Amino acid sequence: MTGPVRSRSFAPVGSKVMIPPLMPCGHCYYCIHYPESANKCLTPVYYGRYLGFDKAPHLWGGWAEYVYVDLEMLPGTKIYRLPDDMSLRLGALSEPLTSCIRAFNRATRSGGFKWGDTVVIQGSGPIGILAVAAAQEMGAGRVICVGAPEAPRLALARKFGAEATVNIEEVTTPKARIKAVRDIVGGFGADLVMDCSGHPSAGPEGIEMLRDGGTYVEMGQFTDAGSIETSWHRICTKDLNVLGSWGFTGNDLPLGVDMLYRTRDKYPWLEMQTIYPFTEEGIGRAVADAMAMKTVKSTIVPWPELAG
Ligand SMILES: [Zn+2]
Repeated sequence: MTGPVRSRSFAPVGSKVMIPPLMPCGHCYYCIHYPESANKCLTPVYYGRYLGFDKAPHLWGGWAEYVYVDLEMLPGTKIYRLPDDMSLRLGALSEPLTSCIRAFNRATRSGGFKWGDTVVIQGSGPIGILAVAAAQEMGAGRVICVGAPEAPRLALARKFGAEATVNIEEVTTPKARIKAVRDIVGGFGADLVMDCSGHPSAGPEGIEMLRDGGTYVEMGQFTDAGSIETSWHRICTKDLNVLGSWGFTGNDLPLGVDMLYRTRDKYPWLEMQTIYPFTEEGIGRAVADAMAMKTVKSTIVPWPELAG
């Protein structure tokens, strides 16, 4: 959620701000002992999810012209001020981008991602495209993206710096996709594969794209898309790191804002977004087009005059 401040605050009225949707409480066991895992806070605040519309004054979520932030009721709320010359439209990408940065940091902390590594991103939706950019900014040497459709998604992945893409609509079997990726990567396979697809078949396929001793990061199964038959023998025999990364903590969000601002002219960020008006019809189209994969990132804009 991004927007201008319209009430009393730490920042002048009209400042551009970003609110991480999930905010840890700051005083539970996870928050105190494992701040890097504060996304698993035991009593989190989640604007638009754990704070329902039925609670007065009701304006607790996104897809809205206003969001109500009560710092006395919810002292764990973190509000980050965007640079004055950063567009709200660009700032809106900081939430999904931070998920990608956090997933790579998760791999780095585990010794599974280092400068120059060859990275394969599974998925070419908004998270996949943002992960292509994050991988490069965080030191990847080569980035390959597996996904579909060619337009608009894989074409955009290449514009964002993916050296090659594999189209799953053309290369239709896991075996053929594994071979296609391994042919591109060369050697013994990729150093790191990250699932940004959300499809349950990504995992068993993705680990076969790795070199032995490589790292698989699962950050795309954010919702439960079901299970699939697999053999954990492959994880053992390939000597793999397998990591899960779930969203991010409130403290991670400035990493996304900073990267977007620093690289605002380096990547075609705004080409990711298809803009829709804040009307019932506009929101319906935004969702339908995203589900049909006609867009990369459907973006609903309540205040067009403030978005640019
Ligand atoms: Zn907590």
